[in-house]
Amino acid sequence: MKSDRIIVANWKMNPESPETARTIFLAIRRASEKLKRTRTVVCPPAIFFGNLAKLSTSKVQVGVQDVFWQNNGPHTGELGVSMVVASGGTHAIIGHSERRELGETSAMINKKVLAALREKITVILCIGEKERDNQGNYLGFVKDQISSALAGVQKRYVENLVIAYEPVWAIGKSEQEVMKGADMHEMLLYIRKIISEMLGRDYAESVPVLYGGSVSALNAEDIIGNGHADGLLVGRQSLDPVQFKEIMNIVDSAN
Ligand code: PEP
Repeated sequence: MKSDRIIVANWKMNPESPETARTIFLAIRRASEKLKRTRTVVCPPAIFFGNLAKLSTSKVQVGVQDVFWQNNGPHTGELGVSMVVASGGTHAIIGHSERRELGETSAMINKKVLAALREKITVILCIGEKERDNQGNYLGFVKDQISSALAGVQKRYVENLVIAYEPVWAIGKSEQEVMKGADMHEMLLYIRKIISEMLGRDYAESVPVLYGGSVSALNAEDIIGNGHADGLLVGRQSLDPVQFKEIMNIVDSAN
């Protein structure tokens, strides 16, 4: 399917049972069939990933929430990139702020990005400042996150790269606290400038830039329409099939 928008469901450590995971996934799959320009990617907990990947289609794909930089070996608890591919996974969220909070460093994120791209997994690289300051230091912070994560990435792999801008201050909040579309547009241009400096102008336009952080059906249109985001990364609301379907439709139809 030719798609120019992406919506990612980050289920985090939810839901509790494989049956519920399957039910939510099938509802999302039904909703995805009607979308014209949007690819949906569901990232469930690793334990449910293999079963759901068997139910994936060209319109709804399945990814992981993290991946390790080795394919196999003595790495207890980790998930190898080639295992993800062999089990039907197409995408990997890397560098989510909740994993950074647990101690994941920029160097680890860079290794994961390089390993995933080598195996042709599409990387959804999460970046975003913890807080905003009046001096604009957060811009330097975002730039450092992108440059360190993408260090050494070869241009031929860029087609498998997605950036998810997720300001940490907007994650897990109320839908009123979400970033405004106009501010997202500014950040999107800034992210494209950084990519252009790193990889060249042609690539700046081709890398999809998503927004994540307390997205709901109330704010999705502003972020896509006025923010010009190429899609959304949705946490809590992606576990509610009714709400998520509404957000999916907005992403697909917003101008
Ligand atoms: C997230 O943590 O990636 C996220 C977007 O969560 P929420 O939508 O719940 O803020």
